Amino acid sequence: MDLKEKIRVIDGFPVDGISFKDITTLLKDAGALNECINQMAERFKDTQVDIIVGPESRGFILATPLAYVMNTGFVPVRKPGKLPGETIKYEYSLEYGMDSLEIHKDAIKPGQKVLIIDDLLATGGTMFAAAKLVEKLGGDVVGLGFLIELEDLNGREKLSDYKVESLVKYN
Ligand code: IMP
Repeated sequence: MDLKEKIRVIDGFPVDGISFKDITTLLKDAGALNECINQMAERFKDTQVDIIVGPESRGFILATPLAYVMNTGFVPVRKPGKLPGETIKYEYSLEYGMDSLEIHKDAIKPGQKVLIIDDLLATGGTMFAAAKLVEKLGGDVVGLGFLIELEDLNGREKLSDYKVESLVKYN
């Protein structure tokens, strides 16, 4: 199955000039969702994974079923103030201003092998922050998986220390 055919592209969302990759059309298709999760599991079948992390919010949607299939637990990475327990924070700069992400302090045990999953790789800033949070807790980032990669934005370069897999690419 061609997963790219199941993704809807909406020009001008959320602002002019952006060509938004809408995965809701893939998610609502039972066969496509199944194929997407199975393909991702296949990419990491030879990697030892103890736990899967997903950044808010579309990362949750893909990371959790993959954790189920790969028989691991799931850990959320969230925007500030959303997680109820003790957290650590990673701040990073955007084109304009700063953003930050948080993870529960007790979410990852030192030495655990961690796979991080998100829907889309653009500049790589979100995934880089998630990887740094995992590493601050002593986790070993063994892979980064994306449904979509926007190749022109060179996110892969920012993530060059890691094994990066993506299922669908756009130029
Ligand atoms: P990055 O941090 O620049 O790599 O941006 C990736 C993040 O932005 C991901 O968490 C995506 O959910 C979100 N994102 C950016 N562009 C799109 C898009 O076209 N469709 C869906 N999500 C997007």
